[in-house]
Amino acid sequence: MKLKQILRLVKIVLLTICGLIAIVLLISFTPALWHRWVTYPRLEKQVEAFQKLRKEPISLTKLNTYRGVLHVHSFWSHDSKGTLAEIIPAAKHCGIDFIFLTDHPRGNIDTIPRGYKGYYDGVLVEPGSEKQGFDTWPLDSTIIDWKVDKDTVAKNITSKGGIIFYAHTEEPHNWANPFYQGMEIYNFHTDTKDEQLFPVILNFLVNGDKFRPWALREMFDEQTTILARWDSLNKYRKIVGFSAVDTHENQNFRAKFLKDGRLQWFGPNAKIIDTMEVKFWNKWLLQKPDTSGYVFKLMVDTYREGFNYITNYVYADALSVNSLANHLKKGHLYTAFKSLGDAKGFMYYAVNQKDSLIGMLGDSVKLADIKTLKAVSPYPGQFRLIHDGKIVNQTSKEGYNFTWSEPVQKGAYRIEIHIKLDGKIVPWLYSNPIYIY
Ligand SMILES: [Zn+2]
Repeated sequence: MKLKQILRLVKIVLLTICGLIAIVLLISFTPALWHRWVTYPRLEKQVEAFQKLRKEPISLTKLNTYRGVLHVHSFWSHDSKGTLAEIIPAAKHCGIDFIFLTDHPRGNIDTIPRGYKGYYDGVLVEPGSEKQGFDTWPLDSTIIDWKVDKDTVAKNITSKGGIIFYAHTEEPHNWANPFYQGMEIYNFHTDTKDEQLFPVILNFLVNGDKFRPWALREMFDEQTTILARWDSLNKYRKIVGFSAVDTHENQNFRAKFLKDGRLQWFGPNAKIIDTMEVKFWNKWLLQKPDTSGYVFKLMVDTYREGFNYITNYVYADALSVNSLANHLKKGHLYTAFKSLGDAKGFMYYAVNQKDSLIGMLGDSVKLADIKTLKAVSPYPGQFRLIHDGKIVNQTSKEGYNFTWSEPVQKGAYRIEIHIKLDGKIVPWLYSNPIYIY
């Protein structure tokens, strides 16, 4: 073979490889680019139009509604570096009134309070722990001994007035334990577990700056198994349902220049994943350094978007730890995907024959006293009434009000509101049940 022929062959092989790489890149990036130019702008317009439909419902209780985050991590956890400088502005931006932290303890003995406690720029922060599948807030100067068995931990904390809720309810728990008071019915981290990492990274690379709320929303799946579990438990006793954002602001990819000119890459939990010379092929990824010196940021679980993604709404007398804890245990709480619409103003309640309110979400009401169940919402939606896990009513049209027209029976009745998003009906709000006995 002549040299000329060999060169020609090499050229063809190289061009084919380049062509194949280009095709693979194009195929890989197409969904993310499609989202950027088509889907997400369309969704944004739809949500904007939806939010214009807001009508303030008349208040039916003297209690106030407080927006809160109930599972979140700060620097006190080994896997977060979040400080008040990041947490409080994010909370203010999202209209969050209180944050109950759930930091991972650093050993088998956990002292509470630690980390942050008190009011910071008007945002109430209460420290707690996440360990052994618990979200716990002892609400007191407490030393938790995590070495004793889990059920004893729950007993020790709740018998002194603290809160024990089950975290990560996709995992096994002792559901028959009589001491825990509630469970996560939605956890963002749980929801992401079935996602494939590569498409998620590509989507955040393309849409992470401009459309991060939608890139997060892309991972949403209705947690039907967890909701079914919650319903089955509520048949026997009150188990408060709440949502968890589980934000660490640390599940990110970042890069920073070292003094010697090399680039250092940080992966999730701020772990160094690589240190390298900058090459022509990765230079295009880099931007001007931010205030912390990062020249590349692929942020996934930020406080700012996390706090807005799903939010708990608690009816309470005052923005104090005592009042909030008291009403949390009562189940005076509903949860909603706030980035779709702020659910403040929602109420689910029971009325007597005189149409007076005799109980609200989380309450127990005597069958003999109740006439029917009602709900009001600041946004129009499809109401679903769920009795002991079965949908017993589903409104055909989207509305602001719901009244159950059939006879009420014993059991736990909860309300969901679903809204139309991009032609699909998606869950927007979950309320705690009213228990009829
Ligand atoms: Zn967590």
